[in-house]
Amino acid sequence: MSLSVRDHLLTDIIGNRQVRSTVKDEYKGMPIPEYFGCNVFNDEAMRTYLPYKTYSRLKAIIASGEPIDDALAEEVAHGVKEWALSKGATHYTHWFQPMTGATAEKHDSFLDFDADGMPINRFSGKALKQGEPDASSFPSGGLRATFEARGYTAWDPSSPIFIMEGVNGNTLCIPTVFLSYTGVILDKKAPLLRSMEALSREATRLLHLFGKKNVKRVTTTVGAEQEYFLIDKAYFLRRQDLMLTGRTLFGAKPPRGQQMEDHYFASIRERVLAFMQDVEIEAFKLGIPAKTRHNEVSPAQFEIAPIFETTNIATDHNLLLMEILRKVANRHNFALLLHEKPFKGVNGSGKHNNWSMATDTGENLLDPGHTPHENLQFLTVLTTVITAVYRYADLLRTSVATPGNDHRLGANEAPPAIISVFLGQQLSQILEDIEANKKTNYTDKQIIDLGISTLPKISKDNTDRNRTSPFAFTGNKFEFRAVGSSQSIAGPNFVLNTIVAKVLKEVCDKIEANLKKGMEFNQAVMEVILPMIKESKPVRFEGNNYSPEWEKEAAKRGLPNRKTTPESLRDFIAEKNIAVLKEMGVLSEVEIQARYHILVENYSKTLNIEAETALAMARTQILPTVLRYQTILANAAASIKEVNGKAYDLQLSATKEYALLVADLQNKIVELEEIVKKAEEIGDEVEKADFYCQKVLPAMNALRDVVDTLEDKTADDLWPLPKYREMLFVY
Ligand code: ADP
Ligand code: MG
Repeated sequence: MSLSVRDHLLTDIIGNRQVRSTVKDEYKGMPIPEYFGCNVFNDEAMRTYLPYKTYSRLKAIIASGEPIDDALAEEVAHGVKEWALSKGATHYTHWFQPMTGATAEKHDSFLDFDADGMPINRFSGKALKQGEPDASSFPSGGLRATFEARGYTAWDPSSPIFIMEGVNGNTLCIPTVFLSYTGVILDKKAPLLRSMEALSREATRLLHLFGKKNVKRVTTTVGAEQEYFLIDKAYFLRRQDLMLTGRTLFGAKPPRGQQMEDHYFASIRERVLAFMQDVEIEAFKLGIPAKTRHNEVSPAQFEIAPIFETTNIATDHNLLLMEILRKVANRHNFALLLHEKPFKGVNGSGKHNNWSMATDTGENLLDPGHTPHENLQFLTVLTTVITAVYRYADLLRTSVATPGNDHRLGANEAPPAIISVFLGQQLSQILEDIEANKKTNYTDKQIIDLGISTLPKISKDNTDRNRTSPFAFTGNKFEFRAVGSSQSIAGPNFVLNTIVAKVLKEVCDKIEANLKKGMEFNQAVMEVILPMIKESKPVRFEGNNYSPEWEKEAAKRGLPNRKTTPESLRDFIAEKNIAVLKEMGVLSEVEIQARYHILVENYSKTLNIEAETALAMARTQILPTVLRYQTILANAAASIKEVNGKAYDLQLSATKEYALLVADLQNKIVELEEIVKKAEEIGDEVEKADFYCQKVLPAMNALRDVVDTLEDKTADDLWPLPKYREMLFVY
């Protein structure tokens, strides 16, 4: 008997399925603190490699965010180079985050020649501070054409320098922002840093009003829970769709998916555990505080969650973590799938963005306090966040609008496209009570009467959970659950920081005005937050976000419900959204327009690649297979025509039924081809994205439906693609 394509594949896979370890023996079982951050130019490395004066000046600059002068840069560069050489680095790179959503790097060696022509290692202050990648091929939304052809990278000292290991030597990585020479930003990091500045400024103002004059800075903190799929690499390599688009464009539903609910938190298979441990060791070396690992809801789905950090560092670390996951998966003969919906019919992957604000004095602003006064501060911050989400729900939605996430949001397993806020029973009640009491003359006593004294009872442990909410309060932080698994968290966080900063500003302005009028402090605050509690009430929702009733209710409340990326992206350039990004100094109008174009174009390009891939697979893999099987069926029927008339009739009708499906497949291929051609003829980018969404995607889905039906009716040994049951269940 000859082996089928998939039998051969299985032989490969079995051969590659050993449990393995791919890190150096010394790290196995080593207590984590002994090597945590060993590849980071952290405080310890700075103290060792920099003269004390340089070290303390650098620290001060990092804390204040001031620019670094050339002399200091020269001294730091020397220390960094010595440290990097001690770590086996031969090259350095500016590491940046262009609008592709991934990271970018261009390596240079330390090699130089001295005056005598002798080879030496050299790393200048200038090379540390500024780089000039040939950036002409990064998406700029037409910016560079209009302004300035070249872009440059500039060192961001707020994020630590690190070493990336390679099998034949290591590379020094300098985290940078990416700008054009006219100062227009071209990356995802700069707006994040600007939004953090804006939020720090306004939140510090608020705390000063509350008498906390020693607070100098407020940073936002983020813990990003990362979900992912792992499948055998050999299967991945046999699927053009996974390789080219990150998701399966075809695949019949297996008899068993996630309905047994037996994968979530199940015991972790040995081979997967070995992979996770390797990932964690690599993460620890880079100072990424990996904390939790577990199996997720879908078969073959997993999660890694770190301990939260300052947002820009959490963002860098999440990008690095995605890179580590990919590299280590490859070493273990797995393919890592970060797409939001790699498989139809089972859960997709998200990235829960846990978010809060913390002062430089160590206070978490979303932690309910223990006294009525602290509670007032907590209530003010809480109301500010809810109001910001209410007023800018559409903008927040744009920050998670990607073609991949469209398959997930609203798919009855992930947050819907409607942004609402979940608070839990207790906090909701408190806000209701405050609202019900229309009196404005608040005193501490009355605050207690209003039930605010019950706030200290709210602890992280007894807040109830609502897994269906896109933006849920979880005791001492908000969890933004609509973020996609493959996304950089920079976008969602810069939007969140910006809108909260904007409302904080308004709150501070109004409290100050009330105080000027001679109002007592508590009253001055309550008079500001009471109307906001009322105003933002429509965004609060405690029920099931997946229910059809909520969709209707949300429409009644006037909450935006943008189901697709093209629909949502329009909000990015709505007047009020441009205004808030501009006012908070996060993005200029030009930068917003450029980004909008990049995102719209990216949508069409992604769908075009998907449609072309689906067509290629349908024409060259599926159609030839089903034609072959159609012949087998026809021949089988013909061969018994003379033998058994009744059996012949039955087989003939089965053959006809199959042949009709094959004809349908041919039709659907032609239809999709024509519609993609039409899409590509559209000149206007916005119109084109709409067309891809409204016409091409349904045509792709129609093609998929026929292929998936055929998969279930075609001889298993002929089917050319790894099936769901193989990919999802074998590891
Ligand atoms: P779960 O939400 O699964 O119950 P946790 O509540 O422990 O898990 O936290 C989930 C994530 O939230 C972790 O990454 C954690 O570090 C992060 N987190 C906890 N506190 C904060 C905070 N103050 N700011 C931002 N993230 C936080
Ligand atoms: Mg969580």
